[in-house]
Amino acid sequence: MPDEMSLPRAASDSAARWPFDNSYGRLPERFYARLAPTAVSAPKLVKLNRPLALQLGLDPEVLASPEGVEILAGNRLAEGSEPIALAYAGHQFGNFVPQLGDGRAVLLGEVVDATGIRRDLQLKGSGPTPFSRRGDGRAALGPVLREYLVSEAMHALGIPTTRSLAAVTTGDYVYREAALPGAVLTRVASSHIRVGTFQFFAARGDIEALRLLADHVIARHYPDASGYRDLYEKVIARQAALVARWLLVGFIHGVMNTDNVSIAGETIDYGPCAFMDAYNPETVFSSIDTYGRYAYGKQPQIGGWNMARLGEALMPLFAEDTDEALKQANESLQTYQPLFGRALMAGLRRKLGLSTEQDGDSELAQDFLNLLHDHGTDFTLAFRRLGDGTARNLFEDPAAFDAWATRWRERTASEPQDEATRRATMHAVNPIYIPRNHRVEAALSAAIEDGDYGPFEELQAVLAQPYEERPEFAAYAEPPPADQRAYRTFCGT
Ligand code: AMP
Ligand code: MG
Repeated sequence: MPDEMSLPRAASDSAARWPFDNSYGRLPERFYARLAPTAVSAPKLVKLNRPLALQLGLDPEVLASPEGVEILAGNRLAEGSEPIALAYAGHQFGNFVPQLGDGRAVLLGEVVDATGIRRDLQLKGSGPTPFSRRGDGRAALGPVLREYLVSEAMHALGIPTTRSLAAVTTGDYVYREAALPGAVLTRVASSHIRVGTFQFFAARGDIEALRLLADHVIARHYPDASGYRDLYEKVIARQAALVARWLLVGFIHGVMNTDNVSIAGETIDYGPCAFMDAYNPETVFSSIDTYGRYAYGKQPQIGGWNMARLGEALMPLFAEDTDEALKQANESLQTYQPLFGRALMAGLRRKLGLSTEQDGDSELAQDFLNLLHDHGTDFTLAFRRLGDGTARNLFEDPAAFDAWATRWRERTASEPQDEATRRATMHAVNPIYIPRNHRVEAALSAAIEDGDYGPFEELQAVLAQPYEERPEFAAYAEPPPADQRAYRTFCGT
């Protein structure tokens, strides 16, 4: 094994000078543990996100160089990097765990791009930390590639998310049910502060830390917030908008624990997530979600539950008197449901090609979803083909569709938009390509079993332009064959 806890040498030449400014590391020591990534045996770059590198002000050629790859593997530190593992707590499947933290990730630092945007650069799968508990601190190649594909697909869909800058194989095995090739993902995020970060300090009665954290979050993510109550309501608003966006593309996060809820309102922690094919609100893919707590249709409610937990953590900042603080937290929490409802309805209107609001729109939308549910119709294709005028073909019993379609056509007749404009606006919000589970699996197994990254690269290219139909990629739009529909995902550990 490589020498475990020694600090890798910092590169001193200009190639490794990155625009770091590490604000989280200036918070008190109890917010994190300082440690470097643990070196791996034989780092090999398997995927680099060149456009993202450029956006961050990093040179893709430098990243792809042997020295860059060592940095992306955790074998070497870029100049200016001050690696830390973040402390946080969280409710996992409803049960509070007072200490979780980065058990297999290290924040290399924050880079500020040319436009002043600050982003975290984190290695995931970078070795054990003081927060690892019984885990090995590592990640297997499959989950790393999966997070890469799905997070980048979410970004292309226009949904707030962490990004993936690079995937490196380690040359070491990780031991799960079987020995699997190890990998390290370089994750980019607005920050890695979670609801669970607030819970960590609240659970310890550390009000000073709570206030410092809230001030840090305001400065970094919510500069317009007028105070802690307003901060809370702004986090709630982003979370409500985010969960609505998930529902509108059929995304199932799979593990909406409070430690996996970004305070900045980004989708984070791609473990057992997956996209729904046939519309069914009860859809669950995660093998560990036995009771369907995080089913597709439960996500709005769980989003609210998570915001309630954030309110509890923030209460000491609202008022000294507990009853008063609770009253304020509850008042703010009431904003979640209506905000979510409006965001979802606005999105459904757009998906249905309705640019105006009319009574009955909500029933029209719900009846379409019910129709899809009753007939096991593919969610993504149904909306896309509605825009094309060919949705009827998706139904074995077209008459059921016709009854609804008559109502829809009557409704769209009162729209100011012409047919062509409607079609274009529908296509701009109804993707033709999503990361279909069978495609993701095929790309991953080719990469892992055969070292063939062709399918991965092609799938990534398809998903980078999810709204633009390209005839050569027609097969990627298709739902899985019948024998591949019973899909299971496993937590990325
Ligand atoms: P997750 O379910 O991936 O959100 O992870 C929950 C917690 O378990 C976090 O504190 C992770 O850092 C930690 N964890 C997950 N996998 C590992 C691992 N292989 N080694 C150490 N810690 C891990
Ligand atoms: Mg997590």
